[in-house]
Amino acid sequence: MMEIKLFNTLSGKKEVFRPLRRGEVRMYVCGPTPYDYSHVGHARTYTAFDVIHRWLEKRGFKVKWVMNITDVDDKIIKKAQEEGVTTTELVTRFSQEFFRDMYILDIHPDIYCFATGHISEMLEVIKKLVEKDYAYVIKDGVYFDVDKFKDYGKLSKQKREELVKHRIEPNPNKRNPGDFALWKFKKPREPNWPSPWGNGRPGWHIECSVMSSKYLGEQFDIHGGGSDLIFPHHENEIAQSEAASGKKPWVKYWLHTGFLNIKGEKMSKSLGNIIPIREALKKWGPEVLRLFFVSKHYRSPIDFREEHLEQTRESLERIYNLLDLLKLLRKSKGVLSEAEIELKEKVKNAKKEFVQAMDDDFNTPKALASVFNLVKEINRFIKNKNEINEALYREIDSFFKDFSSVFGVLQKEREIKEEIVRELIELVIVVRDELRRQKLFALSDEIRKKLKELGVVVEDTKQGTRWRFQH
Ligand SMILES: [Zn+2]
Repeated sequence: MMEIKLFNTLSGKKEVFRPLRRGEVRMYVCGPTPYDYSHVGHARTYTAFDVIHRWLEKRGFKVKWVMNITDVDDKIIKKAQEEGVTTTELVTRFSQEFFRDMYILDIHPDIYCFATGHISEMLEVIKKLVEKDYAYVIKDGVYFDVDKFKDYGKLSKQKREELVKHRIEPNPNKRNPGDFALWKFKKPREPNWPSPWGNGRPGWHIECSVMSSKYLGEQFDIHGGGSDLIFPHHENEIAQSEAASGKKPWVKYWLHTGFLNIKGEKMSKSLGNIIPIREALKKWGPEVLRLFFVSKHYRSPIDFREEHLEQTRESLERIYNLLDLLKLLRKSKGVLSEAEIELKEKVKNAKKEFVQAMDDDFNTPKALASVFNLVKEINRFIKNKNEINEALYREIDSFFKDFSSVFGVLQKEREIKEEIVRELIELVIVVRDELRRQKLFALSDEIRKKLKELGVVVEDTKQGTRWRFQH
């Protein structure tokens, strides 16, 4: 019986995954704020959700995945002012860079939605919250009253008193220090939209509440993001959404990814250790990055170190080479040898282990271990054999295709490099010339015949041996 379990931040437990609608999964992941290039921490989170997306589809669910682009925000306004461009220009540039990064990383949400394209929907929800007395208007904006929402703190598992304590409060007009802005009134030189309470722009949290429910419904299955978003962002999203609709739970499963560190340190501007995705892609390529990310469980922290990436590159290359070699060794034969029967059993086990690991809260390192164990077994098998049964080869190939399509690796079509082919032909010609000098004509003729069969024509001329590809 197929059963997927996942760790739900909301319950603090691993739970059996039962989507609200049979056979369908609706998933929202908080996207970037495009005021700069996205970094490898973003790549880690989005790769994790991409693998979750792929696995759920593999398990037969129809998945709809929505990601937002926060295109109005303090950081965007500040950066645009610094660069002397409009916020739209800045956002256009960096969201295009982000889409490019995602495309190269082979990450494809079904919908990307921009906050500024959904202002009217946000105003509808804020209006509802004001009418229901969950929100109030003061001098600088419309605020959500966290005291009115009894479940506040249920996601981050914090008591209300604690939530209030560690927040420094600059706004004395708010009813409660923990209250957050739904709508911020216009300041000079800021992008703004009309609203029933005055011109302004939306707060960050309301955009995710509104856009996720617009595309996925008033209640949906999975909401995800980096674990730094649990509080206050996701806590606030729950408060607004459940207060507005009156339906609980707004989201059934909350999934959060662990931090990405650079050489053991937190990535930050002040340390100057931020690595943009585009730089990492240039150096390692998408497949090495993806394989590196899945080598750790999505909830665990991951340490970005050159040596780990180098190891990942080598592991990936070893698998590519092994698959190339197997392709060359396959032979159609009747029955499997004893060693082949044994290997077939190991392929079956690896498949089973892979599925079990992925079903258990998307345990990619464990799933990957089953792949590498099988690689070891295959290497052991071919050490003393120069062929493999075609049927067994196909089973191995299908296992690797399955695993690689979930992790998004081994997607490159490998072509034999032409220069290597040319050098090999030259080498054979040199050997053949030597045979001719030793008057071993039968053997040299045999070589010429074999080369011709391969499409290489050898001509013995007075100037020496020449060769060309047959057209
Ligand atoms: Zn969000």
